[in-house]
Amino acid sequence: MPKSYLQITPELARRIKLVVADVDGTLLSDGDEVSSPVARAIRALEQAGIMVGFDSGRPFTRLEPLAASLNASGPVIAENGCVAKLKCGAGLYDLGYSRQPALKALTKFKADFPTAIREAFDYKDRLIDVGFFADGVPHVELLKRMEGVQLLDSGYMLHMIQNGVSKGKSLKRILGLIGDGQIHPDEVMVFGDSATDISLFTEFENSVLVINPRLPKEQTIDICRQAKFQSKLSFGDGFVEVITYLLKQRSDATF
Ligand SMILES: [Mg+2]
Repeated sequence: MPKSYLQITPELARRIKLVVADVDGTLLSDGDEVSSPVARAIRALEQAGIMVGFDSGRPFTRLEPLAASLNASGPVIAENGCVAKLKCGAGLYDLGYSRQPALKALTKFKADFPTAIREAFDYKDRLIDVGFFADGVPHVELLKRMEGVQLLDSGYMLHMIQNGVSKGKSLKRILGLIGDGQIHPDEVMVFGDSATDISLFTEFENSVLVINPRLPKEQTIDICRQAKFQSKLSFGDGFVEVITYLLKQRSDATF
C-alpha cells in the first residue's frame, strides 16, 4: 500500500526538480478546466523552481491549451506516451511510434461488433493512440483480436497503443532533453490516478497516487501496489494537498 503523502521528507521535497501529472482523474474530475487551487499550486511549483509537465491520455488538442493556460514549463506528453513535446508550444519530438497496429485491431473490432464499437469523440485529433468505446464487449474478446498493441482503460475511454509504449517510458526517454538536461529520475515526482499511470509509477520512484473514487476497486489494486505515496483527498484537491505539503517541506528544510 502507498504511504501517506505526509511521509514526504524535507530531503525528498528539496530534491524534486520536475513534477509530471496525469490530467483526467488527477488534476480534475470532469471537463477541461482545472480549479483555481490547482492552477495556484502549479504556479507555486514553477515559482519554487520546480518545472511542471503533463503526461496524459489526451491528444495535444486537449492537453496543450491546458498546459499553456497554466504557464507550465515542463514537457507535454500526450496520447498515453505516444507523442511528446519537450515543452508547451515546441515542435513534436519524434518518438517513432506507429498507429497502424491499433488501426488494424480497430477494423477487426468493428467487423465483429459493429454496433458496440464507437470511435472516441477526439479520435480524429489523435496522431497515434486510438481512443474508442466498446459498449458491453468484454475486454477478453478485444484482446483476442489484437496483435502488437496494448489495451488501456483510463476510466474515461479505452485506448489502443503499440506494444512497448507507455507514459513512463516516454517521459524517461525525453528526460535528458528537459530543462538543463541534468534532471535525474529520482528528482522527478509523478502524479496519477489510474491503471494508465502504472508505467509512470514503475519508471519513477517518487510517485503519488491521487485518489479517484470513481474507479472500481479492482482497477486500483495494481496501481496501489506501485505507488509510493497517496493523497487523502480526491482529484485536484488531492494534488493540491500533496503539492502544498511538498512546498512546505522544502521551505521548512531551508530554515
Ligand atoms: Mg487519469
